[in-house]
Amino acid sequence: MKIYNTLTKQKEEFVPLVEGKVSMYVCGPTVYNYIHIGNARPMIVFDTVRRYLMYKGFDVNYVSNFTDVDDKIIKAANEAGVTASDISQKFIAECKKDMADMNILPATTHPLATQEIDGMLEMIQTLMDKGYAYKVEDGTVYYRTRKFAEYGKLSHKNIDDLEGGHRDIKVTGADAKEDPLDFVLWKPKKEGEISWQSPWCDGRPGWHIECSVMSKKYLGEQIDIHAGGEDLVFPHHENEIAQSEAANGKTFANYWMHNAFLNIDNKKMSKSLGNFFTVREITEKYDPQVLRFFMLNAHYRSPLNFSADLMESAKNSLERILNAAENLRAHMTQEDTLTDADQENLKVREELVQKFCDAMEDDFNTADALAAIFEIVKLANTTVDGASSAYAKELYHTLETLSGICGLKVEAEEEILDSDIEELIQKRQDARKNKDFALADQIRDELLEKGIELKDTREGVKWKRI
Ligand code: AMP
Ligand code: ZN
Repeated sequence: MKIYNTLTKQKEEFVPLVEGKVSMYVCGPTVYNYIHIGNARPMIVFDTVRRYLMYKGFDVNYVSNFTDVDDKIIKAANEAGVTASDISQKFIAECKKDMADMNILPATTHPLATQEIDGMLEMIQTLMDKGYAYKVEDGTVYYRTRKFAEYGKLSHKNIDDLEGGHRDIKVTGADAKEDPLDFVLWKPKKEGEISWQSPWCDGRPGWHIECSVMSKKYLGEQIDIHAGGEDLVFPHHENEIAQSEAANGKTFANYWMHNAFLNIDNKKMSKSLGNFFTVREITEKYDPQVLRFFMLNAHYRSPLNFSADLMESAKNSLERILNAAENLRAHMTQEDTLTDADQENLKVREELVQKFCDAMEDDFNTADALAAIFEIVKLANTTVDGASSAYAKELYHTLETLSGICGLKVEAEEEILDSDIEELIQKRQDARKNKDFALADQIRDELLEKGIELKDTREGVKWKRI
């Protein structure tokens, strides 16, 4: 299996640190708002990487953080007159809902920056002890960038060409820095801001140190894959390398993977530019699987332009897969055995499964992998009539497995049983009795979504399937 490594600018054979295991850290969102579909791209892409590794039998330890302390969160909290933790907790919950909708597996661990401050204090202290960090008068602690000889190795930048374009450069004490390239590890609190005690000043961590520490705590000093969007290569990941490798004295991550941007009108979709759609807006209009299909229909390292046309075409393509699955299910009616013709057709299936895997092995070329799924759809549509049920089951299983690696579900929508409906109606009646009309309405809407319409009559509640 080959992975394009940003560090070497090459596709490299993947060799895990420990046989059969993969440790993977994916930088997660800063939670001050609903996530937009640009943020969803790394989530979908790296979830698919994870699913393929699992399919290959690897035990994947997948860690993805939430950045829950940040200037933007504090600003949003001040504007709303609530605490920073109110904001971050709300949007972590909303983000998890979106992730579940997009069929993104929960991470093995989802650490929160605010719960890992002790580890950050410890790593900053180590960096100070080793001469990689220094404190200035107001208590800010900086990383001494030029001391790390390999600085620039990930972003392929020459340290002398850098103008100190760090996101956090002007946060505080900028004038007191030894070098404009130095970046913040710890910054003093400002009035009304959340803060923690430290040996240097009451304050909070810089953004980069958070990921170095969370990755170390949950995955160890060395990991296999570190991933995120391409805007994180510099300075975030470059700084993470400088911190982790200086503190631990070891190579941090062996493979660095970065997805290209999701654009709109060929400009990066971002909250600051205001040209974004939230995942919530899109999933109100489309089945979330359509968004997933749309993302995977492009290679993760190619920029992808969002448009209603492409979403429509993704919707139609996905429908072809779902229809083929339904058609196969309709043929899975009895216990029988494969005919000779079925056996021959299954050889074609084997070739197509191989084609799917070859595409995924080539730096996760999901566009080609989906093309292989469509060839299986075509095979199914052209051969299942007159074939045995056993054959339909075989093809169905393949379609389900390969689509599942892409996080696409082809299973039939779960049928809601009469007894479940009765139970929900009873719950709704109870809610009404307790004057919890919001809950009562929610139950009615939930049922409607499942195709059950309620009618309140004099004889009680009647329901029908629509
Ligand atoms: P942020 O909340 O800005 O730190 O972003 C969380 C993740 O989403 C990071 O991996 C970003 O690189 C990624 N990301 C943000 N905007 C986009 C975009 N328009 N296209 C692809 N990835 C993005
Ligand atoms: Zn990070």
